[in-house]
Amino acid sequence: MAEMRRVTMKFGGTSMMEMPTIAQILQEARASGEQVIAVVSALAGVTDALERSLAAAAKGERWLYLTECGRLRDRHLELAQSLITDAESLEPLLLELNERCDAYLQICDAVHILGEATPRIQASAISYGERLSAPILAALLCQNGWRARAISTNGGDDPTSQAPLIQTDGEYLNANPLWSSTESQLKKTVLPLLEEGITPILTGFIGATAAGHTTTLGRGGSDFSAAIVARCCNCQELIVWTDVDGVMSVDPRLDDRAQLLEMISYSEVSQLAYLGARVLHPRTVQPVVEANIPTRVCNTFRPEGRGTLILPESEPPKTAIRAVTSIVHVAMVTVSGRGMQGVPGIVGRAFLAAAKTGTSILMISQSSSEQNFCFLVNEESGDRAKRAVEAEFAAEMARGDVEHVQLDDDVAIVTVVGAGMQHTPGVAGQIFTVLGQARINVLSISQGSSECSISFVVKEGELARAVRAIHDLVLAVNGREGTRTPDLTDVNRAL
Ligand code: ADP
Ligand code: ASP
Ligand code: MG
Repeated sequence: MAEMRRVTMKFGGTSMMEMPTIAQILQEARASGEQVIAVVSALAGVTDALERSLAAAAKGERWLYLTECGRLRDRHLELAQSLITDAESLEPLLLELNERCDAYLQICDAVHILGEATPRIQASAISYGERLSAPILAALLCQNGWRARAISTNGGDDPTSQAPLIQTDGEYLNANPLWSSTESQLKKTVLPLLEEGITPILTGFIGATAAGHTTTLGRGGSDFSAAIVARCCNCQELIVWTDVDGVMSVDPRLDDRAQLLEMISYSEVSQLAYLGARVLHPRTVQPVVEANIPTRVCNTFRPEGRGTLILPESEPPKTAIRAVTSIVHVAMVTVSGRGMQGVPGIVGRAFLAAAKTGTSILMISQSSSEQNFCFLVNEESGDRAKRAVEAEFAAEMARGDVEHVQLDDDVAIVTVVGAGMQHTPGVAGQIFTVLGQARINVLSISQGSSECSISFVVKEGELARAVRAIHDLVLAVNGREGTRTPDLTDVNRAL
């Protein structure tokens, strides 16, 4: 018998609010002869609420966290009651949901007593969103006459699985998968279910260490979970079902003229994701590139659309720039001084000093005169990074070789993405001409070494205008009507 096509489908938070639609999508895939592994997010807003109530518990705000926990419980129980009509299936489901809500409340109570939540406790607490949503979807599928099973990938809630399905290191809130144990555990658990005709509904976002402590893959990490599952279970395709038509030329929440990109390369989409486009978690790309798994991003609410297909670059792209993205809540640390010119190691020392404070650097730029350089970090790390750099250069500052270490915390990073930039001279010049015409002051510029992206920093107050101005250019390059295939002539005309 020919082997069945195997697909991993990931459903995001807004999609999970419409479980009957998800059931229909899964049904159609099954009817077309596919084996589907579902990876699911928490219901929209739940992970934020879990974070909020845990923070309230740590601050001693008992009434606040009790109210929030009560709301979460009601929300899940009401959803289960509205979807599951058969009393025999509903009862064990409600019991399970109540048990998980009790466990979460116990964590909040403990944190309330202790007055703090360590990263390990935080990870365990925010894992409950997925552990509450997955059983509801599984119960709905079973009610529809399927065989489906919810499995928590931290190994925690499933009596048949002791070891975590996604085993990670101990970086609790941004964990890294341990590939070999994850692969063997996923294969051992998931593949036999598929063979038996049971649809596995796996929790996204969460894993556990070898010792069984729950970890998370970072906020928005369910996409990454799905990529891990697709790779480890040898899937032929990964489909990320979300609440927009696919990867678009700009975040549609920022500009309603956003256009769907029907095809995008792995390198373009990873630049977009790393530099702010929330549609895909930045770490999703690596596992699917390595295993060469075609990936699609589709709209749960318009499943008939083709979505965006993410593929390796097969030929030079026809258009130079394809999308614009941005990151807010960042801070820029600028180090300047005439005495830095030609002195080796200055930049390295600054980055190391920042790194030692646990700060991660989002973007770097150095003037060719070597008289100043700057780096961008998350807003909350800005002050810490500035102080660390000042301490590192205390002697140079006393001598006057380093004159200032300046912090700007009302800035934003805008990135223009397009693999075709490598083949099209003059794109950067034109981007900055457009910005100049819009009278937007650019504070710093950096070009990715792959020449697939150009990032620049503007004042936060000018961000919306900057994104719109660049998006105008993207639309012009790509053909505003989208009726013909744009080529390099369009690029030149638009520029
Ligand atoms: P999910 O819960 O399905 O994972 P997310 O909220 O994490 O959904 O990601 C989808 C959101 O990403 C969209 O609603 C959209 O606002 C945002 N987004 C940001 N940039 C882009 C882009 N370039 N294309 C599409 N969506 C984008
Ligand atoms: N529920 C998690 C979050 O909100 C993971 C995800 O949805 O991808 O961050
Ligand atoms: Mg997401």
